[in-house]
Amino acid sequence: MAGYLSESDFVMVEEGFSTRDLLEELTLGASPATTGKAAAFFLADLGAVVRKHFCFRKCLPRVRPFYAVKCNSSLGVLKVLAELGLGFSCVNKAEMELVQRIGVPASKIIYANPCKQIAQIKYAAKHGVQLLSFDNEVELAKVVKSHPSAKMVLCIATDDTHSLSCLSLKFGALLKSCRHLLENAKKSHMEVVGVSFHVGSGCPDPQVYAQSIAEARLVFEMGAELGHTMHILDLGGGFPGVEGTKVRFEEIASVINSALDLYFPEGCGVDVLAELGRYYVTSAFTVAVSIVAKKEVPLDQPSREEESGSALKTIMYHLDDGMYGIFSSVLFDNICPTPLLQKDLKVSASLD
Ligand SMILES: *Cc1c(COP(=O)(O)O)cnc(C)c1O
Repeated sequence: MAGYLSESDFVMVEEGFSTRDLLEELTLGASPATTGKAAAFFLADLGAVVRKHFCFRKCLPRVRPFYAVKCNSSLGVLKVLAELGLGFSCVNKAEMELVQRIGVPASKIIYANPCKQIAQIKYAAKHGVQLLSFDNEVELAKVVKSHPSAKMVLCIATDDTHSLSCLSLKFGALLKSCRHLLENAKKSHMEVVGVSFHVGSGCPDPQVYAQSIAEARLVFEMGAELGHTMHILDLGGGFPGVEGTKVRFEEIASVINSALDLYFPEGCGVDVLAELGRYYVTSAFTVAVSIVAKKEVPLDQPSREEESGSALKTIMYHLDDGMYGIFSSVLFDNICPTPLLQKDLKVSASLD
């Protein structure tokens, strides 16, 4: 999905003109044979990205949003979000380079991958990226050596067993190892300035945020005891990107606001941030694909009645892209695309 867009890739449309209208315009009468454009393509409604931002500011006024670049690094999205003043959460050098190239200052970048290549830690040091996350001793030692002036954010594990995509499998220190890590950082003269977590993408239980905020409070206290000045709480991602999910964004926001009031009340001097990916972009993107083949198949396993000829049939469509390409989210994020347009030989699916 990533790619460099030129100005001509942007279309300004009038109020009320929808993605669906644009798709119709683009595909009407244009078969792959006549346009030569057989490949699937994406349409992005950047207005939807902007609306998400205003909704976020309204529901979580105390939280400063950072955009998780890995979710969708299209230049259009990055530029709009930079313009809206967001920070950026990057997981590697390529992403830091990309956002710095569009003018995002290093102070608005968090290098939020607890597992980093030494060369990329050096890159962050050289380009002024100061905020780095970590969750174990070996990673801390790498940063001590290659970026001693970095400000570290300790990433703690969360209970993400119910999320659609569990990140604690990969990331996050257990609460019981936090004291040791904080002591270690102190011994190495490394500043730990905050705590982060990620509840996993597609988190179905807002209480996991409250639980993680409470645990972060404990880690803040440990840090203070050991002489770290902790002032950043990073709530990570996991916020739904579309309407109609089991838990609505507003519900999660309300649980978070209560937990913040309890554990990090206004005026406590803690800067609260979140690293949102899917929340900002999922609803903005629509993919258009061509149907290359269509066949009638039985709806279920064949049964006796069906063998006698009264089988229920359905249509199976073969598209010009698949699971190994733009539909990988069907496998990894449990996303079920909903068709938007069905015309003679075309169908498009909205990835929600
Ligand atoms: C992917 C990712 C996010 C964003 O997750 P969403 O659930 O898409 O909001 C945030 N932080 C890190 C470190 C990530 O890798």
